[in-house]
Amino acid sequence: MSLQSLETDFLIIGGGSAGCIAAMRALQIDPKLRVTIFEKSDIVYGGSIARGMDALNIVAIPGKTTAALYLEAVRAGAAGIVDAGPSYVMAERSYALLKEMESWGVTFPKDEKGQYKTLKYHVKGEFQTAMDEPELKAMLVQRALNLGARPVNRVMALRLLTDNGKVAGAIGLNVRTGQLVVCRAKTVLVASGGVSRLTLPNSGYLYGVYDYPGNTGDGFAMALRAGAGVTGMEYTQRTMLIKDSNMPLLAICVTRGAKVLDCNGNVIMEGEVNNINAMNEAFTEGRGPVHIQLSHLPEEKIREIEHILFTTERPVNERFFGGRHIDFRKQDIELWPTEYLLCGGHGLAGIRVNERAETAVPGLYAAGDVASVAKQHLTGAFVFGEVAAEEAIKYMDGMPDPVINEDEVNAVREELQQRFTDKDKDIDVRELEHKVRRVVGDYLVSPKNSHKFELWKYWSDTFRDDFRHVAVHNGHELSKLYEVENILLCADCSALAGDFRKESRWGECHRRSDYPL
Ligand SMILES: Cc1cc2nc3c(=O)[nH]c(=O)nc-3n(C[C@H](O)[C@H](O)[C@H](O)COP(=O)(O)OP(=O)(O)OC[C@H]3O[C@@H](n4cnc5c(N)ncnc54)[C@H](O)[C@@H]3O)c2cc1C
Repeated sequence: MSLQSLETDFLIIGGGSAGCIAAMRALQIDPKLRVTIFEKSDIVYGGSIARGMDALNIVAIPGKTTAALYLEAVRAGAAGIVDAGPSYVMAERSYALLKEMESWGVTFPKDEKGQYKTLKYHVKGEFQTAMDEPELKAMLVQRALNLGARPVNRVMALRLLTDNGKVAGAIGLNVRTGQLVVCRAKTVLVASGGVSRLTLPNSGYLYGVYDYPGNTGDGFAMALRAGAGVTGMEYTQRTMLIKDSNMPLLAICVTRGAKVLDCNGNVIMEGEVNNINAMNEAFTEGRGPVHIQLSHLPEEKIREIEHILFTTERPVNERFFGGRHIDFRKQDIELWPTEYLLCGGHGLAGIRVNERAETAVPGLYAAGDVASVAKQHLTGAFVFGEVAAEEAIKYMDGMPDPVINEDEVNAVREELQQRFTDKDKDIDVRELEHKVRRVVGDYLVSPKNSHKFELWKYWSDTFRDDFRHVAVHNGHELSKLYEVENILLCADCSALAGDFRKESRWGECHRRSDYPL
């Protein structure tokens, strides 16, 4: 099998929010730097932004809020489990980030007094800052490309390379051809998002998930194998979104006056998005489905919400609601629980990093949803993308090129050759993924208990055995097999962490029936 070889200074794995801004920052500091981005999909469309975004969820605006107040808010939101350093740094840099984004042409709407429009998303302070930018992803990519970033599209990073315990690059797989790409790099940033495909959505579709479906915990798995730590893996999270389409709208509507009601018409949330647990309880207690009501709002507010939903968050919404004959002036919007995910952006699960975005492996950085900075959202992806680039440049100053360990390359090559065949194999990779995610949903999400964690061990071993029987006909199916392997490894970590945390915490994210509140 032929190999493609690449050389670079700074390798970024994942061309989403954190990856693109890291490339920009690195090239702003040193325009001669060789910056390469492995992107599993196409960099123009990949990632959680995909198109646009309607808010920067954490901005400490001087005179209005502070980084210290944000720390109080996130501590309350994460029930006390927060690494204060990274969260503080993020909030401290958030206003400068907003200003930088304005300089790219991103619109942050202001009120009649000329103040940024802020919304109440956290229990303390108004940190969520409205943004009106339907083309955010395209903007980011264009800026990174103009500065000289080199994307390698359709390449999924499989394994990190190491040289005497330090990072030395990564091996990727072309998801169309199955060809291996070996990239030697002085430093690596993992920015490959969370685990969006942890369990199945209630629509049953493998990829009909809330978060970007290409994010399958590859970064968690690569970092773990290379010697970095992960944390917060017991924080299995779901939210409530539009039934069947799984598109987000909760923060957009509720912060603008919409009400969330249970099926008896009781108000669960109003004014601020402060109680996802109460929505979960309504479902568990049989008071679901819950609804969002907009009909009481003035026409002007409904139009504002429609504008965001049908442009930034996202154009297909207009057809979706039109097709179902739902007019927000007359009908409510039905919400259902999404699938569960592991994510350092919305939740707490991710690679352990410090305020310099460093992992435990020298030269390896992590930023965005793959890294555990409590509920950091887009602000964290951007801030720590920049921080990682700044730190990586300091780290590689005067450093010689690392040496590629041929044994590491050969191990991946051999494994790939064994997998890339359909001879005497009869399991379809999509069926295996369906089963893995269904069983994760049975045993590893709330209500959790020791007995379920014990049962999971049998299934985890069984699935690993099944890998040997998966028929792989092309590069695409091969990449899916690696994705399922990563989902499984993340599920194992979640089982381990979930069993270790012998308490109930964070509502539905970690509710143990054998250790009730
Ligand atoms: C629907 C939705 C709405 C949101 N709304 C808001 C909001 O209004 N405000 C806010 O502040 N935050 C919001 N967020 C959160 C925010 O978008 C994310 O926290 C942030 O974009 C994460 O950036 P990231 O770079 O970590 O991941 P992503 O942007 O998802 O990028 C990860 C990239 O890595 C690639 N990748 C994955 N695995 C590999 C691999 N093995 N090799 C190579 N490439 C790989 C993927 O293809 C993808 O392009 C929202 C998130 C979602 C899903």
